[in-house]
Amino acid sequence: MRRFKQPLVIIFLGKPGSGKGTQAELLGEKLGLDYVGSGDLLRERALKEDFTGRKTKIVTDTGGLIPTPFIFKLWLDKFEELKNRKKLKGFVIDGSPRKILEAYLIDEALEWYEWDKNVKIMLIDISNKEAIWRLVKRRICKKCNRLIPWVGEFKKIKVCDKCGGELIARPDDAPEAINNRLNFYDQRVVKAVEYYEKQNRLVKINGEQSIENVFKDILKAIK
Ligand SMILES: [Zn+2]
Repeated sequence: MRRFKQPLVIIFLGKPGSGKGTQAELLGEKLGLDYVGSGDLLRERALKEDFTGRKTKIVTDTGGLIPTPFIFKLWLDKFEELKNRKKLKGFVIDGSPRKILEAYLIDEALEWYEWDKNVKIMLIDISNKEAIWRLVKRRICKKCNRLIPWVGEFKKIKVCDKCGGELIARPDDAPEAINNRLNFYDQRVVKAVEYYEKQNRLVKINGEQSIENVFKDILKAIK
């Protein structure tokens, strides 16, 4: 029976600043899962010296939205790469879906790759007030792009704890960009959240706790 079990797919939803990136990383380490983050895929794409590369950089830096077809090209390339792995325990999806169209497309893509039987969808829930505070204060490593959240022990860190690099504010965490992203969440991402909720596929996790306790709740929800 065991060999028929599909890899575990976890989709994290939550406002910017909810800590889903951090949790996705922790979960990946703990369970040996790959990480599929839209933010990382876009930052990587933005390094390419072509029209879409240059435009991706401008749009993400101002908190704008990359259209779904472009995000999905990156996604499908990544899925294909994962599908061709000899051993895949599973992966964590972070940063998508950002709207209901993407929720439909992810469902179809997971079905195509035969990954649709072991999917967990989790919302890490925080208030807008908490989200703004965390986004204004969080930092990123200039060298390795590691995101240092504004929670618990991380507040004391002066340089990157992975590579010693300088910590700076992320360009897309400027106040205007933060506002754009929270508005976008309230208007669009919420629709994807509701889509999963209606199908009884959504697990809500209280995100306004310590990183450790959020993580414990997530592990409980997986079992
Ligand atoms: Zn670093």
